[in-house]
Amino acid sequence: MNPSFDLRTRVAIVTGGNGGIGFGMALGLAHSGATVVVVGRNATKNANAIAELRAANPDADPCALTADVTQERDCTALVERTLERYGRVDVLVNNAGTNLRKPPQDYSLDEWRMLIDTNLTSAFLCSKAVHAPMAAAGRGKIVNIGSMTSIFGASFAAPYSASKGGIVQFTKATAVAWARDNIQVNAVLPGWIDTELTQQARKDVEGLNERVVARTPAGRWGLPQDFAGIAVFLASAASDFITGAAIPVDGGYSSQL
Ligand code: NDP
Repeated sequence: MNPSFDLRTRVAIVTGGNGGIGFGMALGLAHSGATVVVVGRNATKNANAIAELRAANPDADPCALTADVTQERDCTALVERTLERYGRVDVLVNNAGTNLRKPPQDYSLDEWRMLIDTNLTSAFLCSKAVHAPMAAAGRGKIVNIGSMTSIFGASFAAPYSASKGGIVQFTKATAVAWARDNIQVNAVLPGWIDTELTQQARKDVEGLNERVVARTPAGRWGLPQDFAGIAVFLASAASDFITGAAIPVDGGYSSQL
């Protein structure tokens, strides 16, 4: 294994790691040797993900934690439990997220808050919880998941877009704040990816499937496994001088007018 990408001594927390993009990243990390802690609310999805992660890396001891990342006590507890079990936390992937699609004026305040809490406040809470142990260890890697709505306006996703724009600026702020702690913080901006989240979108938004294929230079939807490589790169020593970046993984979507 190229030593720059070797994660065999690393412990990585992946929120929303039990499915979709998060599971694609978790599997990539496991294949490079990492011990993965999967976080999600659904215990059945968590158990299925752990079974696959064990098969991918029989030398590691992955585990799942049932937690709601909108709750501060859950975010603190998931880091504490990781430290109790493994004695370290090297990587945090803030991936958990959700969406509700409607015109901006139709959201209730509760819906707005739920979306901001799930997609943005969760990244703050989990990052805050890992900062002290990472700083004490003298290094750390945080990967936040943005979106094409971090760049473009989506008429049907105002709070989601606000949360994902916020993710990019939160990434830059924590990257510069924690650079001297040797903690690198970067964002990944997925294009349109085939997951549970977008299977619902395809039902909600007429013609979406055709528009995505036509608008994406690669001519296809992304897949969860398209995120394995960027996860390993941003979690490993290979990216030690990269911080505050927002990297599209989008089949060229954001490069095309
Ligand atoms: P999925 O719906 O497939 O996965 C979402 C994950 O987040 C699940 O594992 C879910 O687990 C977890 N999750 C949601 N809410 C919570 C919560 N409150 N507490 C803990 N876990 C939670 O979606 P994707 O894989 O598509 O999305 C992953 C990330 O990628 C999100 O941040 C999304 O915004 C982003 N993204 C996705 C794109 C796409 O095209 N799919 C495009 C751009 C960005 P559980 O249900 O067990 O809680």
